[in-house]
Amino acid sequence: MKTLALIAHDGMKAEMVAFVKDHIDILRKFKLVATGTTGSHIQRTGLDVELKLSGPKGGDAQIASLAAEAQLAGIIFFRDALGKHPHEPDVQMLLRICDVHNVPLATNPATAKYLLIGMAELIEQGK
Ligand code: PGA
Repeated sequence: MKTLALIAHDGMKAEMVAFVKDHIDILRKFKLVATGTTGSHIQRTGLDVELKLSGPKGGDAQIASLAAEAQLAGIIFFRDALGKHPHEPDVQMLLRICDVHNVPLATNPATAKYLLIGMAELIEQGK
């Protein structure tokens, strides 16, 4: 099973929960991992999610570590582009690691939708 990481900044958590509900059937095809608070919101939709630390406590860094170790098929990271975050260095590090290791990364719901559709297609093809 491919692993997908999910992260949402506070200003985007409602968007993430709505996105998860809209795509719940596709998301069931993945092993899910999430930063702590995002993950606890997603768990309420009934999906099974492995929780990492909360983002500001190192959760983004943990997800970046998984990406660097080629353990993630993709990351959906809904960033709050209008807010300031104490862990901005970790956020930048995660984005950089995704580019270094060519890990698919969607940072808004429109892109995340296409990422999921593409990944579901690959799963259908057995890839
Ligand atoms: P959270 O972390 O899911 O624990 O809120 C996300 C973040 O702020 O990067």
